[in-house]
Amino acid sequence: MAKVYDIIIIGAGPAGLTAAIYGVRAGRSVLVVGGKTPGGQLMLTTDVEDYPGFVDAVQGPELVQKMRGQASRLGAEFLDDNVTTVYFKKSPFTIETDEKKKFSAKSVIIAVGSAYKWLGIPSELKFKGNGISTCAVCDGYFFKNKDVAVIGGGDTAMREALFLSKICKTVSVIHRRNVLRAQAVLQERAKATKNIKWIWNSDVQEFLGDKKLSGVKIKNTKTHQTSTLKIDGAFVAIGHEPSTGFLKGQLETDSKGYVVVKGGYTETSAPGVFVAGDVRDFRYQQAITAAGFGCMAAMDADSYLHGFRSQSVAAKKI
Ligand code: NAP
Repeated sequence: MAKVYDIIIIGAGPAGLTAAIYGVRAGRSVLVVGGKTPGGQLMLTTDVEDYPGFVDAVQGPELVQKMRGQASRLGAEFLDDNVTTVYFKKSPFTIETDEKKKFSAKSVIIAVGSAYKWLGIPSELKFKGNGISTCAVCDGYFFKNKDVAVIGGGDTAMREALFLSKICKTVSVIHRRNVLRAQAVLQERAKATKNIKWIWNSDVQEFLGDKKLSGVKIKNTKTHQTSTLKIDGAFVAIGHEPSTGFLKGQLETDSKGYVVVKGGYTETSAPGVFVAGDVRDFRYQQAITAAGFGCMAAMDADSYLHGFRSQSVAAKKI
C-alpha cells in the first residue's frame, strides 16, 4: 500500500520550510512538494536585512537554502514538482503533481505563497521576457549601462530600483501616485540614489517597440497628458497575487484568491488542511511572518493528528 504521510506541505518558501522543521521535530512524517522552482519570493531577493539572527545581510536564496538544509537534516522529504490537483473531501487527502505522481497524507499545509502581478495591458504580453521582467536579480544584467523603468511604488519596486541602479545607466520609477507605499528606509535609499529618476502620478499606457522594447507611453493622471519615455527594459513591481487556482472547489478562497482562514489561526474550510504564509496574508507578507505562520500551521496539524490517531483507534475498537 502506498505510504500515507502525516503531513504534506505544498510550497517551499519560508512558510513551508518552517512548517517542515516543526512537523518533523514533532515526530511526523513530512513531504514537502515545493514546486518546480522552489524557495518562493526569497529566491528573487538580494540582501535580507530584516530577518532576525543575521548580523550582516543574508542573501534570499542562501536563507532558503539554510532553511531547506535544516528541514532535510531533520528528516523532511522533498519533491520539486508543481501540485496540479488536490482532493480534500475525504481523509487521507490526496494530491497529484505535474508529473502525475500521487501522494496521500492525513493532513496538508498549504504554503504556496503568491506570484507577481502584471499590468495586464496587451503590449506587456508582447515584450514579456524580451524587455519586460518582474525580477531585477534575474534579468537586470541584460540591461547593463542601459535605461530602464520600474513600475510601482512599494517595497518591491524600491528594491528593484536600488538593485538596478548599480547596473543600469538610469532607472525611472513610474508610480501612479505621488506618495510611495514602500517602507521609509527603502524610500530614503532610493531617493538618495542619483541615477534613480521619479515619474509621479503616471499610468503606463503602452509598451513600445518593434521586436525589442524601446519605450513606454505614460499618461499623467492629473493633467491627462501623455508622453513617451525611451527605455531598454521595464520591471513590473506592482505586488503579488496568491497562486491558488489548483485549490478551486476544494478549499474556500476569497474574491482575490487568498485562502480563507477559519477560527483566526491556520485552519481552513477543510478540517485537517491548514494554511501558512503569503497565500493567506495580504497584509504583512514578510519572510519572518511567513515563517511564523508555518510554525503555527505545523503545530495545528500536529494537534489535529493527535485527534486523528485517537479517532482511528476508537474506530478500530468499535
Ligand atoms: P505592494 O506593497 O502591494 O505595492 C504595490 C505597488 O504597486 C503600490 O505602490 C501600488 O500603487 C502599485 N500598483 C499596484 N497595482 C498597480 C497597477 N495596476 N498599476 C500601477 N501600479 C500599481 O507590493 P510589494 O511592493 O510587492 O510588496 C508586497 C509586500 O511584500 C509588502 O507587504 C511589502 O512590505 C513586502 N515586501 C517586503 C520587502 C522587504 O524588504 N522586507 C521586500 C519586498 C516586499 P499604490 O501605492 O498606488 O497602491
